[in-house]
Amino acid sequence: MDAPIPFNRPFLTGKELGYIAQVLENRKLSGDGELTKRVSRLMETMFSARRVLLTTSCTSALEMAAVLARSDRPDGEDEVIVPGYTFVSSANAFVLHGYRPVFVDVRSDTLNLDETKLEAAITPRTRVIVPVHYAGIGAEMDTIMSIAARHGVMVVEDAAQGVGATYKGRALGTIGDLGCYSFHDTKNIISGEGGALVVNRPDLVARAEIIREKGTDRSRFLRGEIDKYTWVDVGASHLPSELLAAFLLAQLEGMDAIQQRRAHVWTRYRRALAPLEKVGHLRLPIEVASGTNYHMFQILVDSLATRTRLIAHLKARSISAVFHYVPLHTSPMGLRFGRVSLPVVEDIADRLLRLPMFPELSDEQIDRVVAEIGLFYGTGADGTAISAS
Ligand SMILES: *Cc1c(COP(=O)(O)O)cnc(C)c1O
Repeated sequence: MDAPIPFNRPFLTGKELGYIAQVLENRKLSGDGELTKRVSRLMETMFSARRVLLTTSCTSALEMAAVLARSDRPDGEDEVIVPGYTFVSSANAFVLHGYRPVFVDVRSDTLNLDETKLEAAITPRTRVIVPVHYAGIGAEMDTIMSIAARHGVMVVEDAAQGVGATYKGRALGTIGDLGCYSFHDTKNIISGEGGALVVNRPDLVARAEIIREKGTDRSRFLRGEIDKYTWVDVGASHLPSELLAAFLLAQLEGMDAIQQRRAHVWTRYRRALAPLEKVGHLRLPIEVASGTNYHMFQILVDSLATRTRLIAHLKARSISAVFHYVPLHTSPMGLRFGRVSLPVVEDIADRLLRLPMFPELSDEQIDRVVAEIGLFYGTGADGTAISAS
């Protein structure tokens, strides 16, 4: 039996231990030390971001954004618009802070928020729009930003999958009022768990620092701007340890190499699977001219039954392919906010399958995955049928 091909394998640049050793030497393990500063400034430079605040996850960055965007209306009266096809945190971080989620359909090509359906979802209670950059391809930010401006609504980019990707030359996460990054093991740039809040509006920086520091003005105190710090607002503990910042610094410095490897894997998959798309067995992810970070390689098959059988076929050959996102609007929690119909989400959620995708995936492994998918459909590599022998 061939060696197993995992769905994901966290990539190490080789410099992680060196930076972690520096933290041990510094004898400062808690947050906001030398390594946190270095990695935050590096991200600000790399992405042309006004202010990057490290957090313990993208979920916690989204929660900070939810607190920053909240009005003083009672719970349930602020609304947040989110795509129905996304990770639970895009909605839940807001629900936890008293918002009512309003789910909008996605575009069938990018699976990003369908900007043509956005305006109809806006009400006088709308506070925030959360575009999710699915698979590291930018949502239609120009349209989304202009609709948001017209209605006086904030935009919080869920750029968990979009680190290092761009939209019209601008880094994802730096276009909305706020942006949220994830450095979870499954993302492009990792620290095991981790995230960042990108604060693009200067008037939000001071309050963001306070919310991140348990509702205190400790950040100003540490900069020597005040002589004692105290409780001034709501907040929580969102700082990651210096150990995670050290790990992240090594990853960010290796971002170009990581991106190149992912591009190679993605392109090889797409080329090799093109014949199967041509004969109509499956649909491949959209190919954009530039700006993607090649976060994911997902295919669309014709039905849930086919997907279930294909997963089993691959699993029997030690290949791990996974699906994700039970639609939020039909989930038990989502239904508490009412029933809506989102035709594209409902159409694709049962048919989408993610293939193994990580920088160290070898050409041989990619070819093996592709060959097995071909065998599943009973076709040769060129898409032609193989007669049963
Ligand atoms: C991974 C992911 C998150 C959550 O990231 P964490 O860092 O694990 O909290 C949120 N939104 C999207 C779209 C994601 O893919």
